[in-house]
Amino acid sequence: MRYEGNIFRPPSEAYSLILQVTIGCAHNQCTFCSMFKDKTFRVRNQDEVLEDLDMARRRYRRVDRIFLADGDALVLSNAKLMRILNHINRLFPECERVSVYGSPQDVLNKTPEELKELYDNGVGIIYIGAESGSDKVLKDICKGVTRAQLIEAVRKIEASGIKASVTFISGMGGRDGWEDHAIQTGTMISEMEPSYVGLLTLMVEPGVPLEADIRSGKFQVLTAEEVVAETLLMLKNIDVKEKCVFRSNHASNYVSLRGDLPRDKDKMIDMLRRAMKDHNMLKDERFRML
Ligand code: SF4
Repeated sequence: MRYEGNIFRPPSEAYSLILQVTIGCAHNQCTFCSMFKDKTFRVRNQDEVLEDLDMARRRYRRVDRIFLADGDALVLSNAKLMRILNHINRLFPECERVSVYGSPQDVLNKTPEELKELYDNGVGIIYIGAESGSDKVLKDICKGVTRAQLIEAVRKIEASGIKASVTFISGMGGRDGWEDHAIQTGTMISEMEPSYVGLLTLMVEPGVPLEADIRSGKFQVLTAEEVVAETLLMLKNIDVKEKCVFRSNHASNYVSLRGDLPRDKDKMIDMLRRAMKDHNMLKDERFRML
C-alpha cells in the first residue's frame, strides 16, 4: 500500500484496510480542522488505487473491512467508485463492509439510485462530520453547509440502506453559543435519525484559524464542567424513535459515554449529572488527545 501524507480514519475503522482514493479534503476550510491543511485536494489516479488493492491482496490473508480515504472520498462519481468497488468485490470476497467519509454536499449530489448502487456493492457506512446542529455555529466554523442540508443528507443515506455515522463536536459553539449548540444539535439528531452518533470534544491544534479567534478572545473554549453541562443539555434534546448508537468515548472526551438511544438516554444523563458533582470522573486534561 502507498500512502500520501498523514492518514486519518474514524476510530471504528482501526482494523480496516485504508485505501486512499482521494488526497486531502475538497472543502478544507473548517476553522477548527488541521487534518488536511498540508494537502491540495485531488482525485487519485484510479489505476494506482487498483494497484494498491492488488498489493494488499498479496500481503493480507484476510481483509474484513475497507475504508476509503481521504477527507471526502464520496466526492468521486459513481462510475469511479463502482470501478473500485468491483475490484474490491473481485479481490476480497471476504470483505464485509466498505466505508467512506462523505461531505453532505457529496451525498446531496448523488441520486437515491446511486446511493443504492453503492449499498448494493458493499458500502455499509458513510461518515459525515456535522459538528453542530446550529446554523450559526456551522456558519462561524465555515462548514459550508446548513442544518437543513445536513438533515437531508443523513436521511438520504439511511433511506438507501447505508448507515450514517455522524460526528459532532462538544464545545464547538464556544462559551457564548453553548446552549444554542447543545439544543440545536440534540434536535437535529432527532430529525436526522442516524444509525450512529459520535461526539468528540473540541481540541484546538496550533495553526488552525480558530486559534486566532481564541487568542483574540472572540472564541472562548469551554471548561470540562461546561462541556459536561452542554452534553447533558444535548442529550435531553435528543428524541429518536429508531435505535441510534451514541458514542462519546473518544480520547478527547472528558466523560466516556456509550449507549443505544433512546434506551440508554436516562442512564447516560445520570452519569453526566454524577460527573458534574464528582470531578474525579472527568478525564485529566493531560490525557486528552485527538
Ligand atoms: S472537518 Fe472535514 S470537511 Fe472540514 S476541513 Fe476537515 S476534513 Fe474537510
